[in-house]
Amino acid sequence: MQGVSHQVTFTCNICGALVRGYAFEDLDREVGVCSECGSNVRIRALAYLVGCELFGRCDPVAHWPERLDILAYGISDWPEFTHHLRPKISYINTQFDSTFAGKPMLDILEPRPNWVGSADLVICSEVLEHVVPPVQKAFNGLGALLNKGGLLVFSVPHSFKETVEYFPELHTWEIETHPDGTRSLINITVDGRRQRFNDLVFHGGGAAVLEMRVLGLDAIRRHLREAGFCDIKMMDYDVIESGIHFKYPWSRPMTARKIG
Ligand SMILES: [Zn+2]
Repeated sequence: MQGVSHQVTFTCNICGALVRGYAFEDLDREVGVCSECGSNVRIRALAYLVGCELFGRCDPVAHWPERLDILAYGISDWPEFTHHLRPKISYINTQFDSTFAGKPMLDILEPRPNWVGSADLVICSEVLEHVVPPVQKAFNGLGALLNKGGLLVFSVPHSFKETVEYFPELHTWEIETHPDGTRSLINITVDGRRQRFNDLVFHGGGAAVLEMRVLGLDAIRRHLREAGFCDIKMMDYDVIESGIHFKYPWSRPMTARKIG
């Protein structure tokens, strides 16, 4: 019936809430928020993939077995994961700088030795577009965190084209804020040239969430293989009963395994 939208009722696979009131076309990667826990489609998809890959059964978090022997790191993760995942697995959300008091600091560009080879699971969502180039270093860091056979569950906005690096010669740089509120990036290249970039894209407030690139899917696979990953899979399906529906084929959550 034209003009009548298809209503979706789903059970949030993270908190178990029954969520009503969304039209099917209202669900997409960053929306479709659960009224109870605040998860969006992407967050629910990450949890769904963790359950499928860790336990071989794609159950909601509440039905996961208690496996506190599984050590998991979130990389600047959705804060509520701590509350929902910790009863089931030993989950630690990390931050890359000291502005988040009380959370362990972990820089995936240079993980300290005590982190290396320790994790069974790493969740890294919407981080890889923000790290300074070369991005391979971040993929290497993710690989270094995991033990053999360890699982990476991640998402990053991507295209099906080649990667576009916005600041390929980034070296010594700062963000300059203008009186009208707009910002520029000033970079001094390694050979001393001064560069200015306007029209910056921030995913939030500070320089830490400056968009540095749009990765291409083939490049993501290359970076992963070079970092020691195999079994690379993209979530190319929906799980409507958990409110997981992607409008577009790009930027879907992915999984990969550290070569054992
Ligand atoms: Zn929920």
